[in-house]
Amino acid sequence: MSLLRYAFTVVQYSVKEYFQVCKLCGKLFRATQRRQYYCSDRCLKMKIRIDKAKFDERAKKTDYEPEYKRVYMYWYNRLRKINFNDSVPAEEKEQISSGYKDFCFEAKKRKNSVKKRNTEFNDFRSWLIEQQNHADLLMKKYL
Ligand SMILES: [Zn+2]
Repeated sequence: MSLLRYAFTVVQYSVKEYFQVCKLCGKLFRATQRRQYYCSDRCLKMKIRIDKAKFDERAKKTDYEPEYKRVYMYWYNRLRKINFNDSVPAEEKEQISSGYKDFCFEAKKRKNSVKKRNTEFNDFRSWLIEQQNHADLLMKKYL
C-alpha cells in the first residue's frame, strides 16, 4: 500500500467513510458503516423485495408439490390393486386406467399453471380433492 493510499485510508476511517461497491447495482458509493452493502434505500428495498419473492417461490413449491404427490399416489395405489384383482372385468380395468391417464395429464397441466402463477394454489387443491373423489367413485366397488 502506498503512503498516500495509507493516509487516505486513515482519513477514511477517522471520518467513518468507506468506499463500497453496491451489491445490487454495482455502483461505487460512500458507506458510513462497514456493513453497508447497498448504495441507497432504493437498492436496499429492491434487495428485500427480491429476497421475499424467492422466499414466496420456495413456499409455493412446498405447497403444491406434496398435495399433488399425495393425490397422485392415491390414484396410483388404487389402480395397482385393481390391476392385480382378477375379479375386476377387463373393460372396467380399461376404463379406470383411462381415468387415471386423464388425471395424470390434466394434473401436470394444472400443476404447471400454478407454478407459473396463472392458477391459485387453492383452486388446484380443490381440483385435486375432486379428483380424489372421482378415483373413489370409479374404483370403490372393487376395493
Ligand atoms: Zn445500488
